[in-house]
Amino acid sequence: MADRFEHTRRAVLAMAAGTIAATMAVPAAAAWRPMQPRIVALDNLHTGERIKAPFWENGRYVPDALKHFDWLLRDYRTDEVRAIHPSLLDLLWHLQRTLRARDAIQVLSGYRSPATNAMLAATTDGVAQHSLHMRGMAIDIRVPGRSLVKVHRAALALGLGGVGYYPRSDFVHVDVGRVRRW
Ligand SMILES: [Zn+2]
Repeated sequence: MADRFEHTRRAVLAMAAGTIAATMAVPAAAAWRPMQPRIVALDNLHTGERIKAPFWENGRYVPDALKHFDWLLRDYRTDEVRAIHPSLLDLLWHLQRTLRARDAIQVLSGYRSPATNAMLAATTDGVAQHSLHMRGMAIDIRVPGRSLVKVHRAALALGLGGVGYYPRSDFVHVDVGRVRRW
């Protein structure tokens, strides 16, 4: 797995470098300016994998980048990969900006296969049987240098989906389902 990710990481870095070169090639005087790329940085605490990549640029999602995020957010227990809802990355991007986060968002849980979710639901309090984690629409996070209270407040203020507060386990759940809180 480490090899595969290193490969992934180089690809992402190369892609990011390409973006910078393309941006600089536009003359300063040009009236048209490309829309700002949306970059999210994630740190998977279970696998040690990190990614920092533009997942959206020039008005559209970047399919190659989305694949790298899907991989990082896979079910780390089974290595099952599922497409992550791109709007979840938008949500993280907004959160990162609101919090002026300098370091990567730490990920405790992204996609969960039905088997993993069933196992967790049977053994852990607060795990829903029909969790949005199983649909690639939810993520459990911490933000280095920002208190959990601040992250929680910022997520609620965005109003982009569900927000769960888990102070004992030190994470906030965010999803792109209905706006709700617990
Ligand atoms: Zn969650």
